[in-house]
Amino acid sequence: MSTADVLIAGGGIIGLSTALELAGRGLRVTVLERGCAMAEASWAAAGMLAAFDPENPADLRPLSELSISLYPDYLNTIERLSRLQVPLRTSRTLQGSERNHIFSNALSAAEIAACVPDLDPESRSFLWLKEHSLDPRDLCAALPKAAVAAGISIIEHSPITEVRAMASVVDVRTPQATWSASHFINCCGAWAGAISHLPSIEPRKGQMVTVKLPPSHRLDCVIRTPELYLVPRGDGRIVIGASVERAGFDKSVEETTIQALLDQAAALWPPIRQAQIVETWAGLRPGSADGLPIMDACGEGSCWIASGHFRNGILLAPGTARIMRNLILGEPPSVHLAPFRCDRFAAASVP
Ligand SMILES: Cc1cc2nc3c(=O)[nH]c(=O)nc-3n(C[C@H](O)[C@H](O)[C@H](O)COP(=O)(O)OP(=O)(O)OC[C@H]3O[C@@H](n4cnc5c(N)ncnc54)[C@H](O)[C@@H]3O)c2cc1C
Repeated sequence: MSTADVLIAGGGIIGLSTALELAGRGLRVTVLERGCAMAEASWAAAGMLAAFDPENPADLRPLSELSISLYPDYLNTIERLSRLQVPLRTSRTLQGSERNHIFSNALSAAEIAACVPDLDPESRSFLWLKEHSLDPRDLCAALPKAAVAAGISIIEHSPITEVRAMASVVDVRTPQATWSASHFINCCGAWAGAISHLPSIEPRKGQMVTVKLPPSHRLDCVIRTPELYLVPRGDGRIVIGASVERAGFDKSVEETTIQALLDQAAALWPPIRQAQIVETWAGLRPGSADGLPIMDACGEGSCWIASGHFRNGILLAPGTARIMRNLILGEPPSVHLAPFRCDRFAAASVP
């Protein structure tokens, strides 16, 4: 039987960031990944660090702010350990309101035109948010490398099939091996419910398209409305997203959905009509019933869960890693944890 201090299920951004945080405190950490690390939702994301998106639940704000405060150190650590760059691609977001709604601090038409010529406000108002974005594909290359450099074992093609929790030890089975650890953390994203008795985590499919524009049409900020976003990568590519669908674990890309995204994007910012499609894809966000993650003890013994990060897992990764460290090492939590408890769904259903 193989052993570790902490076994983590799932090698997405949440599992690997938590592993990095715990290894930094001297714990022996192994990550068991069903397929390849950073190949699911964390690969599919747009990469906005959207801490101030008005669509976010209010209870997400303290965790978002914790994560944003940790982001510079988080990226520095990943870059130092991996020797790969994870650059921030944009530094501000032009946030659109719902149609026919005026933000109290809305930009004037002239202010908008000065920064994003050709934008069609479509009866919306806009304001600037000080938010960054990155390309998750940079993290996909760097984060697993950083984790290995920090002494973490990442064992790919090892789906966890059984978890048995006892008083002070957790036994975990994969088809190849049995593991024993003092702590087990379920970071399986949209699949988390398959290995823990979990309320309400389900996949929310998102389809996306990347286009390329000629250099005459530069966009250097994210444009976001409640229905759509355009995220420039700084090299002429713009990611347009995303659908939010209940489609089970289906990851197929549908031409009609992609065309609808392109049409909406072109209505908002007409230069998109001249763009060429570079790539289309779909990913599965781990959705919870209230749009908030679950970070808590889960079941018996030393079993934990960190999942359900829905639309904000890239943003929330460093904050989640810090919270999971707090929980496992018995440190005072960095934010109030009641909104993220496992039992909140049960409590909500009591009449
Ligand atoms: C289209 C789209 C756009 C997005 N845009 C943004 C954005 O702009 N900003 C942002 O912050 N977030 C965004 N997100 C959300 C973000 O991608 C997710 O919240 C985040 O990636 C979740 O990370 P995770 O590690 O929990 O899940 P995942 O990355 O899905 O990782 C879970 C891992 O667990 C593994 N696994 C599953 N079952 C088992 C098992 N039994 N045993 C072992 N391993 C297992 C899987 O193979 C997978 O690798 C977006 C998501 C999508 C789909």
